[in-house]
Amino acid sequence: MTQAGVSQSALEPRIVPRGEHGISRADISENALRVLYGLKRAGFAAYLVGGGVRDLLLGREPKDFDVVTDARPEQVRKLFRNCRLVGRRFRLAHVYFGRDIVEVATFRAIPHADAEGALVDEGRIVRDNVYGTIEEDAVRRDFTVNSLYYNIRDFTVVDYVGGLEDLRAGLIRLIGEPQRRYREDPVRMLRAVRFAAKLGFRIHSQTETPIPRLAHLLEQMPPARLFDEVLKLFQGGYAVETFELLRHYGLFGHLFPLTERALAEEEGGFPHVFVTRALENTDRRVEAGKPVTPAFLYAALLWEPVRLRAAELQAREGLAPLPALQRAGREVLQIQLAHTSIPRRFSLGMREIWELQLRFRYRSGKRPHRFLEHPRFRAAYDFLCLRASAGEDVGEACEWWTQFQEVGPEERATMTRARKKPVRRRRRGRAKKKPPEEA
Ligand code: ATP
Ligand code: MG
Repeated sequence: MTQAGVSQSALEPRIVPRGEHGISRADISENALRVLYGLKRAGFAAYLVGGGVRDLLLGREPKDFDVVTDARPEQVRKLFRNCRLVGRRFRLAHVYFGRDIVEVATFRAIPHADAEGALVDEGRIVRDNVYGTIEEDAVRRDFTVNSLYYNIRDFTVVDYVGGLEDLRAGLIRLIGEPQRRYREDPVRMLRAVRFAAKLGFRIHSQTETPIPRLAHLLEQMPPARLFDEVLKLFQGGYAVETFELLRHYGLFGHLFPLTERALAEEEGGFPHVFVTRALENTDRRVEAGKPVTPAFLYAALLWEPVRLRAAELQAREGLAPLPALQRAGREVLQIQLAHTSIPRRFSLGMREIWELQLRFRYRSGKRPHRFLEHPRFRAAYDFLCLRASAGEDVGEACEWWTQFQEVGPEERATMTRARKKPVRRRRRGRAKKKPPEEA
């Protein structure tokens, strides 16, 4: 690790000329290029940085393009009519092109406790609007592979921290002293895992060693920031690998403590596989370009504790299935909110998906026909079949409802006529054939 230390005052960058790296302007979005050229024309330095450069060098399609410059946010605003300044933690300029936004940041330095504009709380950076040079900007970034700059002036790639080498070696490596960098911002532990899963990289040994020991620092993070991060972790298309790494490093339990506890206990000798099935399903949907909703994701991530708690409430307190499920849902949500927030519009949908699971029991008369019209039928049905695929006993419900949707009106009528009213669940004791949790 040659240049990853942050103490050097003048870093000698490695500069790769155009033609010796794989980035061509044709791969960069038109809007990002407009911003880069606009800044350059006004005499400012302008670079592409972060995930955009990293992904282009890897031959992947970047999610977005971030621009950095030595222009101050106010100067950026004056250059572009369609520009707004945003951000409390740090001020950024957003340049709008219809629905597309190009984010422009000013070079920043790692703040010190005594620096103007900086606020450090027990080693954690709370506010860091300290402007700096490009060298300072390079070393305050998280990982070496995220700190590569593409210079619009001469189309070179500039590397102050050994990121090009790590990119070649497939390594996620924190810049600077890992413990300090994690204490400054514990979310970096989640980001390390996310990039390792997404890129198929290894986490460098010195970057991974402190994680299990510092994982608890996540508990101090604002729940709203962790909510955003959870979506990035599980909706990025690599949720299964990400989940495994999060558990491996002891991070998952600090995001979803009740789920972690449920997963740690096997049930009847079988490990819980529901979350994994759900995440495989999420990854498949992302791959196919289908929407994935936070409500469904959270419903899946919290299902194990909800299911177990509902069963307990039925067995111990004699609650009927629906009230047991409702109360379990409220309790689990309450505890979860202390860790990651869940905006109300999502938590409502999540609880609805859980509660609708009980409606799949009714397969005669008008009810099944009406249920099909329910706005959340599809989500609830997908959820039901996930439960079935994870080995939960839902009887024949998934098959029945699959068929019910596929057939025409006449056969639907037969299906709902053929079956007698569902056997009412007995208060106590075991039903003869179907287990009591049958959906
Ligand atoms: P992607 O957008 O593909 O998820 P990214 O690397 O672009 O990945 P962003 O969250 O968009 O990630 O951040 C852009 C850049 O800002 C990063 O590449 C990194 O250089 C810097 N950065 C983001 N978050 C942090 C952080 N918590 N600490 C230090 N630097 C960060
Ligand atoms: Mg990005």
